[in-house]
Parts: sequence; C-alpha cells; structure tokens
Amino acid sequence: MNHGNDAGPSNLISHTRRSTPTAYASQYSPAGRRHQWWITYTCPWGCGSHFGRSRTEIKSGVRHAGCGRKIRLVVARTYKNKQSEGAA
Ligand SMILES: [Zn+2]
Repeated sequence: MNHGNDAGPSNLISHTRRSTPTAYASQYSPAGRRHQWWITYTCPWGCGSHFGRSRTEIKSGVRHAGCGRKIRLVVARTYKNKQSEGAA
C-alpha cells in the first residue's frame, strides 16, 4: 500500500530497508474538555493503528511511532473544532 510515492528522480532507488516509511495521520484539535491534540495513524510498519496526544499541534516530520519505530509522519488531515471558537 505505497501509492503515495513522491514524484521525483529517485525512483531509480528501490525502497531500501533504511528508508523511513510514511504514515498519513488524521489530527483532531482540542475540543471541549479535551485540551490536547489527538492524532491517529496507521503504522506503516504494519502493527496497526497508533494513537497519540500532544499539548501542541503536531507537525509533519520524522518521529517515533507508538511502537518506537521511526516513521515520517505526514498530517494529512486536521479536524478543527469550530464550536470552541465561540464566534463564527
Ligand atoms: Zn507501529
């Protein structure tokens, strides 16, 4: 399930074991009594879904997944809670 390859000249290099797999995450902004950002993504290492929390918005980048393996996290979607804003 790797059809998200970057377009680029590096296609000559086949996936090496050293490469960092990409995880596409959905992030949820703080809402109501929940004051932390939540993020969920399917682990590219094949161990299922991981879930994380952070006090600040999570940015895309290389980080460790819930299982401790390295991943390149890409925040594909951010769901922002409109209700907590008060004014529209
Ligand atoms: Zn994992």
